[in-house]
Parts: sequence; structure tokens; C-alpha cells
Amino acid sequence: MMLRSRIAPTPSGLLHLGNAVNFILTWLMVRKAGGTLRLRIDDADCLRAKQEYLEDIFRQLDWLKLTWDEGPTGPDDFCRRFSQQLRLERYREFLAELDRLGHLYPCGCSRSKIREHAVDGVYPGFCRSRAGGPMPGEALRVRVSEGSVFRVEGQEVALCKEMGDFVLWRKEDLPAYQLVSLVDDLDDRINCIVRGQDLLASTAAQLFLARLHGDNLFAATRFLHHPLIRGEDGRKLSKSDDALSLAALRETGVSSAQVYRVVARQAGLDPADIVTLEDLLRKFCQTV
Ligand SMILES: [Zn+2]
Repeated sequence: MMLRSRIAPTPSGLLHLGNAVNFILTWLMVRKAGGTLRLRIDDADCLRAKQEYLEDIFRQLDWLKLTWDEGPTGPDDFCRRFSQQLRLERYREFLAELDRLGHLYPCGCSRSKIREHAVDGVYPGFCRSRAGGPMPGEALRVRVSEGSVFRVEGQEVALCKEMGDFVLWRKEDLPAYQLVSLVDDLDDRINCIVRGQDLLASTAAQLFLARLHGDNLFAATRFLHHPLIRGEDGRKLSKSDDALSLAALRETGVSSAQVYRVVARQAGLDPADIVTLEDLLRKFCQTV
């Protein structure tokens, strides 16, 4: 079967080094396998999406010389044809099917109530036995049973402990990341997902949703969770680390070759002599 993967930046902040490493690793996997790479931009959370971040995505992908086979060619094309805002009905339809099967319940608990009563950071299911549909301004959660344990790349993930009854539709009347990511991967027939280790629980959540919905092929998706690039203090890089954005790194004179060598190290390759993306691909293809 032809390998199909995607890179999925979010236009809610500047792309940073961690994003670049993930995208390049995905690109290498796809090119080595002669597969198809899709660019998907996750803007379902329109509350935080900004035009300047959307433009930054294309600017940095261009700088890294990354190419993709499907998806938007630029910001305008994205807004016109690919924005997830255009797919809200599709997400609602998926949600309605899970609701029809009896897996969802409305929750109007405030953030502070949840924070106060959370068990190990997980919502304790206050609204589980509530009757009736959601009131305006309420979220929809999915019931995660006690025994929901998934094996992801040889690691056991107990979804009930990691995420509890997680939110599928947010009280701002927007689909949650887990729902959007899964539905897009299903519709785009993605069969290989490369993501950071911080998304291990998300992978379990998406496997869980696919099973509930009856999408059995998703279980055959190949997942690769790579270690995260850490900041100098050992913390995970995030959108708030502006100093490590690609835009800021470029301003201080960091070259794309240096980014390729970071990826080489990450992939266990000797970074010596790597200047271009093609150099990196050549070395990557020599590995088994
Ligand atoms: Zn609740």
C-alpha cells in the first residue's frame, strides 16, 4: 500500500524548531518510501488562528525546501479551499454519529470547577449521568471506560487515566483537536503519522474514537512518536518560546543546514557533510 502521511502545523503561533524537526522527519519517511505527503493546516481552533502565523507556515516550509504533494499552495489557496472552517459540517456529522451511538454527554462544568476536582489532572466525570441534550455554551465529552488501554508503538497507554472523558466539542461551539485530527486523517486516507512523544495520549484518544465510530482501518495506521527537541532548560518547546521560532533563529543567522543537522542527530545519523535537504535524504535512505 502506498504510504500517505501529512504534516499538520497550526496557525496559532510561529513555527519553531520542534515543528521543523517533525516536518523534516515526516518528509524523509515519505520521500524514502516514494509515498504521498499532504500539508494540512489545523485552523479549526479559529480563536487563536492568525493570518501572520498562516503566512509564517509557508515562509518557513519554503526556507526548509520542504515540498508536499497535496494541500494548499499558499495562504490564499488555503483560505479558499482547505480551511477546516469549511469542514465544520463534516465534524458535526461525525460527532452526531458518536452521539447517536450513546457515547457522548454534555458538560457545563467551569474550568475552575474542573481544576479544583480533577484527579491527576483528569476531569472526574461529574456530568456523566446527566440527562438531556447540551445547553448553549456547553461542551460535549466522550465516555472513556475504565479498561480503555491502547498499545501504541509497544507502549501501553491507559486512556482513562491519561485523558479521562475528554472534550470532543468545545463550549465555544468548535470541534476539539482530537475530533478534527482524526476526521481529517480518515478523509485524507492517511496511513502513517509521525508525531512527537507528547502526543502519545492523543494517538490513543484517536484510536479510541475511530473504534467507537467503527472506522476499523485507522487501527492499521503506522505511528511513529519521536523524542521532542528540548529547550536549553530541558523543557519542551512550545509556541510561547518565541526565541526558538524559526523566524527568530533565522534572524540570528541560523541556516537551514543547521536545522537539517539537528534532524540528522535526531534520526541517529552522522550530521557531518549535510548541507542540503537532499544530503540528508541520501543519508536517511542509506539506513534500514
Ligand atoms: Zn461537567
